[in-house]
Order: sequence, then C-alpha cells, then structure tokens
Amino acid sequence: MNIEKYDEIRASLPAGVRLVAVSKFKPAEDISALYQHGQRVFGENHAQEMKAKHEVLPQDIEWHFIGHLQTNKVKYIAPYVSLIHSIDSLDLLKEVNKQAVKNNRVIPCLLQFHIADEETKFGFSLEECSAMLNSPDFQELKNVKIHGVMGMATFTDNQEQVRGEFRHLHQIFEELKSTYFAQNPDFKEISMGMSEDFPIAVEEGSTLVRIGSAIFGPRDYSI
Ligand SMILES: *Cc1c(COP(=O)(O)O)cnc(C)c1O
Repeated sequence: MNIEKYDEIRASLPAGVRLVAVSKFKPAEDISALYQHGQRVFGENHAQEMKAKHEVLPQDIEWHFIGHLQTNKVKYIAPYVSLIHSIDSLDLLKEVNKQAVKNNRVIPCLLQFHIADEETKFGFSLEECSAMLNSPDFQELKNVKIHGVMGMATFTDNQEQVRGEFRHLHQIFEELKSTYFAQNPDFKEISMGMSEDFPIAVEEGSTLVRIGSAIFGPRDYSI
C-alpha cells in the first residue's frame, strides 16, 4: 500500500469530490491501515467479499458496491451498504428495493451508464434508462433512492476519448436531473474516474472517484 500516494491523491481532489478507496481483492488489514489513516469510504465489487470484510472491520466504514451485482447477491449487502454504484436494470433495482424493505431502510443507488467504446462494460443507454424511469414499476419503488449516475471510460491512452466519455456522462446526468429528478436534492452524484483517469474525470465534473491500484498497489486476481 502507498500511503504517500493516497495523501497526494486526497490533496489533489477539490472540495466536493469524495474518494472511494477500492479495496477489492485486498485483505482487511490493508483496509484497516487506511482506515487508521482517516479513510472511511471503501469500494468492493463482490458481495460476499464485502460482507466478510464488513463483519470484521469498524462499523462506521461506508461500504460502496461498485461492480456488476447479481440479483441473488443483493441480500449479502442490503443491511449495511451505503451506496450501490452499479444499478443497470429494473430487475436489479426491484431486488434492491425488496431487500431494503426487509431491512427496513432506504438504499441509495446510482444508475450505471455504458459510456465506453467497449462491449464488456455494463450499463444503461439513455433510452433504456428513460424507459425504466417512466415505467409505473419504477414509480412504486419506495425503498431505493437514486443519487446520481456512474460510468467507466474506455481503457485507452487516448485522453481526448476518455474526456469525451466523461463529458457524455455529465450530460446524461444533467438531462436526467432536469427531466426526472429536479425535485430530488439527493440526485447530485457523478461517479467517474479510476486510478488511470481520475484527474480528467474531476475536470469533467466527477463527485466520486473510485481509486484502487494507485493506492493499494496492483491486484492479485489469482487469490
Ligand atoms: C476495480 C474498479 C475500480 C478501481 O480501479 P483502479 O484502476 O484499480 O483504480 C473502479 N471502478 C470499478 C467499477 C472497478 O471495478
């Protein structure tokens, strides 16, 4: 782990931009060390891994779920998750709502958009999302609250392409805000920017950057 790099990143972020420390594949000890250094918001992308970490780590950690979420896994995170960044279907949102009801809470969520020039990234198109937001089924969901949008740029060295994709997500945010969420002051988050591209994301209006490897070092996917 690179505490100096962490401090440098924190210092570079303007007021109003929060840092989600992405701790996926990293042991609880690493999270604990960063917690002791003052970090409270951590991001994970596997439900059971988040559950296991939540059980052994301090209770005032804000857990953000950032990866693709299968409906049958929502139950592992619903009791405590602070923000789900990766809502990409009405079915998923319905299941989050159902689990939120069971836990007698309202779960904050972001709508994930497909902004990258890649097949593999999940997320809505604006048309798909508008169809969902207009549907009566969506209107009935009282235990989820939409706080904004999330997206991942293409993995490329082409900085202008990355900038264009982030700008597109910001436009989507503005359009949804004026069309559907004008009366919802919680609709204010734009989750974009990772280790390689967060400075551009911040310039394009990010409010939540999700940074893993720049802080924790490379991940070992073999474990
Ligand atoms: C892993 C991951 C990140 C962090 O990636 P780094 O390049 O390690 O900073 C951010 N967002 C999502 C959705 C991720 O899955």
